[in-house]
Parts: sequence; structure tokens; C-alpha cells
Amino acid sequence: MLIGVLGCMAERLKAKLLEQEKLVDIVVGPDAYRDLPNLIAKADDGEKGINVLLSREETYADISPLRLDSNGIVGFISIMRGCDNMCSFCVVPFTRGRERSRDAYSIVSEASDLYNRGFRDVTLLGQNVDSYKWTSPDETEHVNFAQLLERVALIHPDLRVRFSTSHPKDITDEVLHTMAKYENICKYIHLPVQSGNSRILDLMNRTYDREWYMERVASIYRIIPDCAISSDMIAGFCTETEDEHQDTISMIKYARYSMSYMFFYSERPGTLAAKKLVDDIPEEIKKRRLQEIVDTQMKMSLEVNLLDIGKTFKVLIEGDSRRSDQEFKGRNSQNKMINFPKKDGLQAGEYTWVKVTDATSGSLRGEIVDKP
Ligand code: SF4
Repeated sequence: MLIGVLGCMAERLKAKLLEQEKLVDIVVGPDAYRDLPNLIAKADDGEKGINVLLSREETYADISPLRLDSNGIVGFISIMRGCDNMCSFCVVPFTRGRERSRDAYSIVSEASDLYNRGFRDVTLLGQNVDSYKWTSPDETEHVNFAQLLERVALIHPDLRVRFSTSHPKDITDEVLHTMAKYENICKYIHLPVQSGNSRILDLMNRTYDREWYMERVASIYRIIPDCAISSDMIAGFCTETEDEHQDTISMIKYARYSMSYMFFYSERPGTLAAKKLVDDIPEEIKKRRLQEIVDTQMKMSLEVNLLDIGKTFKVLIEGDSRRSDQEFKGRNSQNKMINFPKKDGLQAGEYTWVKVTDATSGSLRGEIVDKP
């Protein structure tokens, strides 16, 4: 048996795992997976297999398997790796290296292949998809993210296209207009705000301020009125005051997030914040602020979901609901999960129309109806 550690933290833990504690045989950084056969062979011969070099080129284009959900309906394709931003709380720039975009043709052919194998929902993944930028080797063709989205959407109208994550400083109106143009590009944007306060955003090095973010949200709702937006938020970042915390609370109400991932600030070694800022908010205050953020978000999620009662959505059936095999579960374009009683003749992987009859902060309930 060989034991290996793979991924972002491998570089940092290399000395501890290999030398001090002699726990593992193989240590592989996030850009070195192609080297695995060679490293395993080395470890088999009794040497340690180590490769934690970061690359400027590695995108893992054309490596399968892709990340697939076991239901055979929902798949994920990495379109880029790394990140050129330097958010002060984040380890990604140090552990995943510079931004690299994959060949647009190989992404489209992977998505087509998924469609041909029965997949109906594909998510294009990257740390910052809006800065996707690919140039053909002969430099005659340039593809930005809006153009890539369009190419994937054109594969088939029955293939739903999602993407994550968008950076508020980079998401363009061109992307929003492309989303509005194609029914199969899902009307859902994960747009992490992190904080609603401009001074804290500056300390976080997010490179946008509260007004910029609000303008982006207003543009989304103007160009795609039925779009759902979700967010990430950090409570109690370095030096955050009560008033600044309230700016995050008010942003939830302004942006009307359908859901959010919410955390209290926890310093990560090696980040800019760890080097330059003092983590000075006591833990009980961070936790209390986080709870206020969570409570506000839960109320908002319920409020926006209640507005869906009476509406009819096109839903992709993903399988049996968690509670009962008499019910299906599936998501609408806005990424909301809907549970509804089964109907003969329908199965997972097919679309149906569902009228919403009830809602909680986490999901919707409904019943199958005829196409409106
Ligand atoms: S938070 Fe996102 S955008 Fe910022 S550095 Fe990390 S990965 Fe990049």
C-alpha cells in the first residue's frame, strides 16, 4: 500500500508529512497530477515521489474522468485553473498558481460528449470564470467567457449550462446579454460579495467597492429580470466595525440573494492578510455577526422563495427526492431545488414543467403541470 497526499496543501505539508512524520510516500501539488504514474513508480521502488511544482501552463485539458455527479445527468468541466487576483484572505493564488485558460475547442467537445452520453446540465468551473481568455496557437482566434458560454449553449438547447464562480469586478454586460439570449444558459449567478463595506473590501483587496457591486447587481436584474444571485460572505474580517458589518447585512437585502455561503473570518497562514493585517475581532463577536448574517439570509431566502409560489418552472429531473421515492427532485434555471410527486412516463434526465405550491428557505414544492 502506498499513501499519497494530493492537492493545494501538499506543498505546505511536504516537509512535515515526508520528513518529520514519515507518514506518506507521495506528495503531489495541484499542477502535477499528470506526473502521478511516474511518482507512483518511484514510490514503488522505495523512493519518495514528490512533485509540488506549480505550472503556468497546466490546465488538465483532455484528461478524463471529468467531475460527474453519480446520477449521470449533472457534470462539471474545469475551464481554467489558478487565479491572478490577490484577495488578502485567500490561499488560492499561492497554492494554485497563475490563471490559465483551457482550449475553447476542447471544452466544447467535452461538453458535447457529456450531452451525447445523456448529461443535461453542465457547469463550467473556474476560480474566476469571467477572466477566461483563450487564444489559438496561431493567434488568429480569441475567445472570451461570453463567447465560450455561447459556444457551449449552442451544443443543444436541451443542455443546460451553468458556471461558477464570477468575480464582481470582471463580470461583463456581454456575459449578461449572452445569458439573456439563450434559454438554456441558467439564470443564476454566484457573485461573492465577501463584505458589503468599501473599506473592508479594500482591505480584502477585492478591487471593487460597495457601489460597483451594487451597480453589477442592478445590471443583472435589468438585463435578466428572472435571475437568481447567490453570494459568499465573511463576518468579522480584520478591523471590521459594527457599522461596517451592518453594510454586509444591508447588502443581503439589496441584492436579494437566493442563498449564500457564510463564514466568520479565520486567518489562513501565508496569506496577505496573515502577513499584513491584525486578526483583531474577538471570536464571540465574529460568531454573533455571522449569526446575524445567517438569520438575515435565511429570511431573505424564504422571502424570495415565497414569491415563486404560483409560478411555473421548467425543471430538469435529477432523481428521487431525498424524502420519498414517490417524488422527484430537480432544479429550475435559477438553481432552486423543487420536489414534486412523480408522474408515469417521466424519468430522471427529462424536463418537465412544475408549478410551485409551497416554499421554505431551502427548497420549493410543486406539482407537474402542462407546458404553459
Ligand atoms: S477569493 Fe477567489 S478571486 Fe480572490 S484570490 Fe481567492 S480564488 Fe482568486
